[in-house]
Amino acid sequence: MNLKSISEDTYTALRKKCVFPTITKTWINERNAVLTDLASQEVVLCGDGRCDSPGHSAKYCTYTFLDAQSNKVVDFKVVSVTQVSNSNAMELHGFKEALKTIEDDGVHVSTISTDRHPQIVKEMRINNPEKFHEFDPWHVAKGVSKKLTAEAKRRSCEDLGAWIPSIINHLWWCAQNCAEDAVLLKEKWVSVIHHVTNRHDWPGNRHYHCCDHETHFGYDVMVHASMLAALDHNNNVNREQSVGEPKYKTAWSKVHKNFRARPVAVGKDYSYMRVMVADVLSSVNDTRDSGPTQNSACNGSTGKTIQRTNYLTDTSVFPIQVERFMVKLLPCMF
Ligand SMILES: [Zn+2]
Repeated sequence: MNLKSISEDTYTALRKKCVFPTITKTWINERNAVLTDLASQEVVLCGDGRCDSPGHSAKYCTYTFLDAQSNKVVDFKVVSVTQVSNSNAMELHGFKEALKTIEDDGVHVSTISTDRHPQIVKEMRINNPEKFHEFDPWHVAKGVSKKLTAEAKRRSCEDLGAWIPSIINHLWWCAQNCAEDAVLLKEKWVSVIHHVTNRHDWPGNRHYHCCDHETHFGYDVMVHASMLAALDHNNNVNREQSVGEPKYKTAWSKVHKNFRARPVAVGKDYSYMRVMVADVLSSVNDTRDSGPTQNSACNGSTGKTIQRTNYLTDTSVFPIQVERFMVKLLPCMF
């Protein structure tokens, strides 16, 4: 395009002379402001290292500490491979250097959350025994997900693939609901082995003996839910076609494996439920006192006092809102 531009040398010189000093000055001001906010507090730091390339060929590793409460960067160190024996040692070096600078500036660090880097685990155990060391569930979840994905690629483990998101959800749930008890955490986490084989209680644990989710429906619930479904079907089968627009909709046919035009029927009729709802309420009422009850909120005519018994058994006094509510509520009882 024949456009004139500055040379690379000029660009580098300008960057060094004008841009870098401004960035440095602004960052130091920002860092001082963050440190001021952290003064006289017990601080929880989250640390992680990031290398410029994956594997063992990285030249630089940036180790960063965030304050867990404000999510602000407190400090970081850029480590060059030339400063350490090999690229594997960069993360620990960055961790130690950055932590030292933060503590030298008077920040009281009570807890550090990191990934499960073995060198950092050892460093925390030996040189920082007074601090809590926590593992960030995000890193644990990432590691577990990676291993499960690799296993799911094996032909004999294909079914595992569909379970991975649920297993990762379970891992997060375990971390959030273990009350910081390591034994409970482990028992909840390992319980996923039972759950995926459709077993929801098991012997042997100290704290956690069965899943916390809703257990599978009992036989009686299945039968009554099926009755409700059959009633709904029989009371709404052969509905007439809607007179409004649209009169047809397209729907996928599993039998013909194509989209077909289906007539749009008039809305469902739930009037059969009025009798059922009255029946349910009157049986509840039979177990209570049936004295006069002020029930103006429900009878649709403000200030009117009625007998609860009459109200509950006479379906004609149901306001439409109560009927709609009960129609929604009844199936939810299962
Ligand atoms: Zn279960």
